Amino acid sequence: MPRAGAPILFALIGALIAFAGIGAAPAAAQVGVVGRAVAVCVTPAAPDMKPGTLFGQADRFDCKTRQTTMGSGDYWVLSEPVSVTGPADIRIGSLWQERVTLYARYADGAIVSAVTDGKAATRHLQLGAIIERGLPARSSPLVRLLWHVEGAANLRGILNGARIATPAESADANLLMGVIYAGFVGLCIALLTYNLALWGALRYRFQLAYCAMLLSLLIYAISSSGALAWAWPDIVNNDRLRINYAMLGLSATAAMLFARSFFEPRVFAGWLTHASNMVCGAMLVTVLMLVTLAPWQITLLDKVFSVAFITQLAIVVPILWRGWQTRSNYLWMFAIAWAAPIILACFRVANALHAIPWSFWLDNSTIVTMTVEALFSSLAIAYRIRLLSRERDEARAQEIAARLLADTDPLTGLLNRRAFLRSAIGREGEQTLLLADIDHFKRVNDTIGHDGGDEVLRVFARTLRNSVPPEALVARIGGEEFAIVTAAALAVEPEDILARLRAGRMPFDISVTASIGASTGPLAREADWKTLYRCADLALFEAKAAGRDRVRGTVTTGQIAA
Ligand code: GH3
Ligand code: MG
Ligand code: MG
Repeated sequence: MPRAGAPILFALIGALIAFAGIGAAPAAAQVGVVGRAVAVCVTPAAPDMKPGTLFGQADRFDCKTRQTTMGSGDYWVLSEPVSVTGPADIRIGSLWQERVTLYARYADGAIVSAVTDGKAATRHLQLGAIIERGLPARSSPLVRLLWHVEGAANLRGILNGARIATPAESADANLLMGVIYAGFVGLCIALLTYNLALWGALRYRFQLAYCAMLLSLLIYAISSSGALAWAWPDIVNNDRLRINYAMLGLSATAAMLFARSFFEPRVFAGWLTHASNMVCGAMLVTVLMLVTLAPWQITLLDKVFSVAFITQLAIVVPILWRGWQTRSNYLWMFAIAWAAPIILACFRVANALHAIPWSFWLDNSTIVTMTVEALFSSLAIAYRIRLLSRERDEARAQEIAARLLADTDPLTGLLNRRAFLRSAIGREGEQTLLLADIDHFKRVNDTIGHDGGDEVLRVFARTLRNSVPPEALVARIGGEEFAIVTAAALAVEPEDILARLRAGRMPFDISVTASIGASTGPLAREADWKTLYRCADLALFEAKAAGRDRVRGTVTTGQIAA
């Protein structure tokens, strides 16, 4: 990375962190965790348990043991005492469970219930994947809540994030979550379009991998936010969770493929390629099993999914190490872009393995961190493309320079014979060929030495070039033999060339003359060239024989006497 880029990059990071902080803090206060938290206690379900009696048996409930240690199955969950007047929205985090029945007890002893099965969960899902059941206002206050949770997989808990909010708070929460998710979805779509459009022109493989990752993340955002439930009210909530698993797994795999094609090949050389193949393969198999087999062995499969994720994260360490060792140009860009998602993914895995408790923001962190990642990655990709394009431009410039070198005569800078023939043969219409040969050049060499002779050749070449129009082809086709091809219609007077030569100053003020043989004819094919050359050569021979320093042959702009 150029040094000048570093301050800009750090300023950007600062701005983004500030943005994320500002965005997250009030949001945390108002959005997913809207309303007031309600502490809950849990007890495994037994056949004799009835809601009416359970409300009065708070001591049967366990408030201390961590829910995730209790295993899967059916449970009753009792809230702490509350006092709510007016309409209330009871919100809980969406989890893998079959059915949740909510019982609400009022001060007058009345109990109101609401059943939420897989499909009802979808219909009551709010943005941020919160299942919300609204309770109408009653004359006496709401005093306690009880949930009967059936078929809890208990992967992240039995009942998480219980809260009581007012309908106005819920509406605000949806609006704010809508803004966050719509922003992310918009960003994904924009980056997808930009990368696909660039891929059309540049065809770098990492662009496709990045698009695959963006697409999976886009679907993940729509599904995990609950927006999918709004668009497709008949989907069973557990099936929506299946889509979450699949998209998260696919985006992690695509991210790995992205890293593989983004870095220089030397970074992944050897065992790291095999290791990343295995990690991606394991992730895909796990996702396939989760999608097709869950809820069968859901607890085990969820653990396997976490392990697959851990290995994906673990392999980042050797990738960064290799990048460092092999002095990858893209290491810092990659590390900065992926720091947030990788750290948050570590937290999520820690939560999945019950090392740290569930939190709404942890559950939704992917969106925030991937927003940061997407912005940085687009910068990184732009930088990567800039370097690649620069390499390509340099290679092209070198190619042009090499071709130029191969086409020019190093002594005079004129075209060499091969380049001259390539450009001359195939020209449309009548062409005039002039062959100019320095007279008694051997003597020139003998008089002023070989180096002096070289200088004469240079001056002679310059004089020729300056005597003909720019569109004429001028070449050195032999030791001291030069050729000029112009369209016959162009006025080129060979006598003028000779006159300029006579008038020009030569090294050591020696006098140098030349003889010119001219011929005019078509030059469309190789055979035309042979004819034209033979005629001009013959004319040149005649000029030499006639005493040198003269022109023989024909040019259409004027008849030269034979
Ligand atoms: P004529 O008038 O009949 O053309 O006589 P000439 O001496 O010019 O012709 P000839 O073909 O007998 O000799 C050409 C000489 O040009 C021979 C060679 O040493 C010299 N020569 C060829 N290439 C170069 C070069 O690159 N540099 C120098 N200094 N001399 C060269
Ligand atoms: Mg000569
Ligand atoms: Mg010669």
